[in-house]
Amino acid sequence: MTGPAPLGVVVDLDDTLYPQADYLASAAAAVGVAAGHAGLDGAAVHAALRKELAAGSDAGGTIDRALLAVGVPASSLSALVPPLVAAFTQHTPPRLSPYPGAEEALCALAAAAPLACLTDGNPAIQAAKVAATGLGRLLPVVVVTDALGGRAVRKPHPTGLVAVAARLGLPPDRLLVIGDRPGKDVAVAAAVGARAVRIRQGEYATAPDEPRAWAVTDTFPAAAELALGLLGADAAALSPG
Ligand SMILES: [Mg+2]
Repeated sequence: MTGPAPLGVVVDLDDTLYPQADYLASAAAAVGVAAGHAGLDGAAVHAALRKELAAGSDAGGTIDRALLAVGVPASSLSALVPPLVAAFTQHTPPRLSPYPGAEEALCALAAAAPLACLTDGNPAIQAAKVAATGLGRLLPVVVVTDALGGRAVRKPHPTGLVAVAARLGLPPDRLLVIGDRPGKDVAVAAAVGARAVRIRQGEYATAPDEPRAWAVTDTFPAAAELALGLLGADAAALSPG
């Protein structure tokens, strides 16, 4: 891609700024405690839920499957699952450590260009995660796709990125997206004609480069460095590093 240089940067949250596995572990522990209060073996539910989440955090019904795995009869799920789902969704992680160097890199980006975060998920949970990372002060614009139209407009649907562009006052195709998931972060950038830098980390670290990103890195600071080099660069000088 050799269009004009980006004027703003959009970062993903989960597995881009902090390890999502840390949040999932914290939320699974909260579900284990709630399961204990419901008369179940809380430790067993906790362990089963961690196993289910490790198999794929995007899949629905993880709590149902965890309960079945510890021997809860299917006929009891309708009564047991809702309070445990609530324990999961209402869990507020006390602290989520950003990836090494992520805070400093975000600081440098914030000083260089308009900066926003675009993330999928339950808006209350995503807000709690941002707060727990301590990065909120560097991210005055956070757009959660689910708040715009539910799961149907999650990345790679362009609605969220178009909304971010409007909030930043920039054309969508002049944004640079940094994220970990080719099928979401790279694809949403492609959907509006913007560039993306993929970071190979977290749950999708080994996913194929499809669609292909403008550049691929292994850390957020490395992605930020590429972004800083690109911001305001001459169009003629643009080529992947
Ligand atoms: Mg992500």
